[in-house]
Amino acid sequence: MKEKVLIFWFQRDLRIADNVGLALALAQGIPVYPVFIIDPTLVHEHECIEDRSIDYMHQALVHVNLNLKTYGSRLHGYIGKPLEVFQSLAEQFDIQGIYCNRDYEPAYYQRISILKDQLQGTGILLWDAKDQVIFEQHDILKKDGTPYSVYGAYARKWKEKLQTIQLEAQPAALTNFYQTEWQEFLSLRQLGYLKTDVEFAAYEWDEYQISQYGDLRDFPGKGATTRIGVALRFGTISIRQCVLKAINLSEVWLNELIWREFFKQILYHFPDVEHQPFKKRFETFPWRNNEEEFVCWCLGRTGIPMVDAGMRELNETGFMHNRVRMIVASFLCKHLLIDWRWGEAYFAAKLLDYDLSSNNGNWQWVAGTGCDAAPFFRIFNPLVQAKRFDPDAVYVRRWVPEWEQKDIKPIVDLQEASKRALSVYRQFRESF
Ligand SMILES: Cc1cc2nc3c(=O)[nH]c(=O)nc-3n(C[C@H](O)[C@H](O)[C@H](O)COP(=O)(O)OP(=O)(O)OC[C@H]3O[C@@H](n4cnc5c(N)ncnc54)[C@H](O)[C@@H]3O)c2cc1C
Repeated sequence: MKEKVLIFWFQRDLRIADNVGLALALAQGIPVYPVFIIDPTLVHEHECIEDRSIDYMHQALVHVNLNLKTYGSRLHGYIGKPLEVFQSLAEQFDIQGIYCNRDYEPAYYQRISILKDQLQGTGILLWDAKDQVIFEQHDILKKDGTPYSVYGAYARKWKEKLQTIQLEAQPAALTNFYQTEWQEFLSLRQLGYLKTDVEFAAYEWDEYQISQYGDLRDFPGKGATTRIGVALRFGTISIRQCVLKAINLSEVWLNELIWREFFKQILYHFPDVEHQPFKKRFETFPWRNNEEEFVCWCLGRTGIPMVDAGMRELNETGFMHNRVRMIVASFLCKHLLIDWRWGEAYFAAKLLDYDLSSNNGNWQWVAGTGCDAAPFFRIFNPLVQAKRFDPDAVYVRRWVPEWEQKDIKPIVDLQEASKRALSVYRQFRESF
């Protein structure tokens, strides 16, 4: 007779603690068999490449596997299509159900609804739980049942609703894991990747930093933001723990966590934004799209110190400070009049904390094409921004050591390019 198990399918929730779907599975009283499935298209068979995000994710998986050892279990890694993996597990076990946590990206919804149907055909039920956010798409709606597209009103409702719920994690029955001999997780090399400079470490709270966040967050040289984005991307930390800290320590930080959920529900309700402007009329916007200028921007070689500093920080570390993200994005879309989608794709490839909804929402916000976006006449002047937020050039000096040389020629004249942007945006607006 086959052994009865429940499967817990780790995805973007790489932790044991305060994991809603996992806790639900463990509460059923049937051994829980933990799996992680690697999409074969991500695997490099013939040569090894460097990818910081994959390296980080891999280290997080190794960490989960080590944690599971404590409970007499392990993380079972598979390379393949989820349906095929579950079908082959069904030959070995009597699968009583599959639990996982929900994602909010269009590709996830497509994949999971097909998978649910296919599995149902084989008699296996799949449950996905809310874990990645405090409030998902249908939790915060306007009185008429439609989604919010203005952040301020959304955030007010979000905060009201927070008063009505309990955030504390439910204790999980950790002894209910499927007991097995422990083994190392698949190695990074087996997947076709090389070790990079990224180090995963379980997140350590710096309460003082969060309490100072409101005053210091805008100064890139101070390193005063939490850098928790990558942990939220891969779910190595629970959003409930973040919000509990924010409630006690900083409303400004809480507001940022709400932006994250705001953009997730925008992507859910308006999935077209993944490839198109939220404001449809921008589909015909006359971007200049100069490829040489784009390459200079990517490489941090525009001759504008703050822009170059940001892009070099991104290229060298996989991170960029939020204020600087706004400056480089504004420079790309406004001064260079390059389509925000080019910048969005570059960020997606480089950012360790890359998140489709936040990246897309913020790019569209800067470009003026998004919901609740910055007005077209807001063009960040990178020199003024540098004076204000990096007055001693601590940040610029770190990434652009040659910044004080007088003979560095910017690829555009900032004043001229700003005037050009204003005129193109204005003319475009008047054409409607
Ligand atoms: C052009 C552009 C692209 C961006 N792309 C991404 C992206 O791919 N992934 C991403 O997580 N954030 C993105 N952001 C938002 C923001 O810059 C980062 O979340 C933040 O810099 C991450 O650093 P941190 O973890 O130290 O954040 P903190 O400042 O400490 O904030 C804590 C968390 O709040 C959330 N948050 C903060 N600001 C925002 C915001 N404006 N929108 C949505 N969530 C926010 C993030 O989850 C962040 O980790 C982008 C911003 C811009 C202007």
